[in-house]
Order: sequence, then C-alpha cells, then structure tokens
Amino acid sequence: MGANDKIWDRIIKTRAGHIRYERKTARRIRRTFRSVRDEILGYFNNQANDIVSTYSAARRRYLVDTIDGYLERGRHESSWEVYDAMTGTARREAEETYDAFRSEIPSEIGLSFYAVPEDFLIAIADQPVMGNYTMGLVNYGDKWSRDAATLLDKALMQSVVNGENVGQLARRMALAVGVQNYAMQAFARTAIQTAAHRAQMEFFRRNKEVIKGVQWVAILDDACCDTCAGYDGRIFKRSEAVHQPVHVKCRCTYSAVTKSWKELGLKGDEAPPWMRRTMDGEVPETMTFKDWIDKKMNSKTGRSWVRDWMGPGKFELFSNGLITLDDMAIRTRRKNRVRSLGDLRRIATRRRRKKEESLCLMN
Ligand SMILES: [Zn+2]
Repeated sequence: MGANDKIWDRIIKTRAGHIRYERKTARRIRRTFRSVRDEILGYFNNQANDIVSTYSAARRRYLVDTIDGYLERGRHESSWEVYDAMTGTARREAEETYDAFRSEIPSEIGLSFYAVPEDFLIAIADQPVMGNYTMGLVNYGDKWSRDAATLLDKALMQSVVNGENVGQLARRMALAVGVQNYAMQAFARTAIQTAAHRAQMEFFRRNKEVIKGVQWVAILDDACCDTCAGYDGRIFKRSEAVHQPVHVKCRCTYSAVTKSWKELGLKGDEAPPWMRRTMDGEVPETMTFKDWIDKKMNSKTGRSWVRDWMGPGKFELFSNGLITLDDMAIRTRRKNRVRSLGDLRRIATRRRRKKEESLCLMN
C-alpha cells in the first residue's frame, strides 16, 4: 500500500469527523432558536388576545421590534457557534492532515512538511463561504437580519389583512423563527466544510514540493448528488482544483497525490525497495462513484437504485449512453452553474444527431 492510499484513508476519517461536528453545531443552533421561540411565545402569552388590526400602528411596530430583538439574540449566539465551528474545523483539518503526512510517509525518506500557521486558520472565518453562499460570516449575519425583519413584517401584515388575533400572529412569528433557524443551520454546515477545504488547500499549497495534485473524493451513498458523483475520482492540478463545497451540505473532500520517488528527485538505488514503493506517485486504489454505478447498472435492482438516485429524466439519457456522470459534474461556463436536466438533454440531442449522421455516412 502506497503512502497516497494511507493518506486517503486518514483524510476520509478526518472529513467524517467534520460531518459529526457539523451535526453537533446544527443541534446547538437549533437549541438556541428553540429557546428564542419559547421566549417569543411567552411574550405573546402576556398580551391580551386582541385582534391585531385594532392595535395602533405604533403598537404593532413595537411588537415587531420586540420580536426582532429576541431573534437578534438567536443570530448573535448562533453566529458565535459558527465562528467557533469554523476555526475549530480548520484547526482540526490542518493538524490531522499534517499528522497524516508525517506519519504515513516514512521519515527515512527525509521529507519535511510545513504546518498551516495559526493566524491563517483564524482568518478563515472572515473569508467568504463557498457553495450557494459567497459571503463571509459577518455579511451573512447582516443578510440574515434583513431577511428576519422582512419575514416579521410580512407576518404582521398577513395577520392584519386576515383580521387575526395576537395568538395567531404569535404562531406566524414562531414560523419565521423556524425559517431563520433553518437558514442559519444551512449556512453553518456550508461554513464548516468551507473552513475544512481552506485549511486543507493551504496545507497542500505550503507543501507543493511534495504534493503534485489533488483527487476529488465524494462519499459513496445515495445522499451524494450527481454533480459530486461526476467529480469523484477526478484529478486536478493543485492550483486548478474546483472549490468545495460545491453546494449546501456537500460532504466532498480532496485527497492528495504526492510525487513519486523519482519526481521528488530522490536517488533511490541504495534505498530499500519498500521505501520507493511507498512513494509511487500513484492515485489511491479506491472505488470511484463511476465504478460503483457501473457495477449497479449490471443488475435489475441496481438499475432501479440508479434510476431513483439520479431521477428518471437523467436516467433515460444515461442508460442510453447519451450522457455520462462526467457530464453531470461539469458546470456550464455561464454563472458557474451546475448542469440542469435541460442542459443535459441538449447535450444528448447533439450526440444522438451526430451518431445518426455517422450511421448515414456508413450506409
Ligand atoms: Zn459534494
């Protein structure tokens, strides 16, 4: 087993740890917002259960502002959770990757590795998060507050228009808390994966003398989307790697491809063969999503799994050999967008036409 296989294994384990951490953070955020919701319901319980439209405009405004204040507490507390989670994840990723390289590449080879400095790891939480968010934690906080204010205003307006009482308004407000809670959780999960990706890429950058490339690792299960599945196993030059996460809740990571004994410029004639074999520069021997799907396509139950997983529209094109998993991964140049079913259909039509033309020529 070469060093790259062992490092692959360690990187996957670290990522699995991040996913557990992600769940824990989401749970903490949920707990915060649950207490905010209870606070809001408690506040409304102390109001007379009047029809909301009988209140003066000033009193209605006061109600919304008060609720907004409670919600802000939720945002403030959960922003700190996200900040902690991002820095914690970045640290763990940097430490464990460093450790994986140091322990899986025999010290006899005489390579040294550079750790990612603490100030880089701390700064990660200030930078934009990837995926469907392209803003940092601070800007997200601002957007979150604006969204919350809009939701609360809307809830009040609905209650007035419908002639509802204060209890019904309270339920609308609680619903808004739920929406904002969910938004914060989704952001947190993406932020954690982004922090891991940043720390990892920085480690790779600092050790580029040893690391020649990166390989996409998606998680082989039905929760993986077809875009990520299409990317799985693909090798990039380090500097050209696509940013992860690609979308909210993306669990993908990169594994490193280290240089071979030869590429490192080591003269290995006197070194034992196992040492040279360790640094073979080969990609880890693991099953990619493509292999996995190919195997599934050989059986009836497997095929129906694939059909459920990618959806009937894509499956029709895929099983007829008109599109591949690779096609699902590549994003269209415009807006860096993931290919839609429509895009894929157009590709398939083009290919079908080409096939027919070549058949005509043969006849
Ligand atoms: Zn992914």
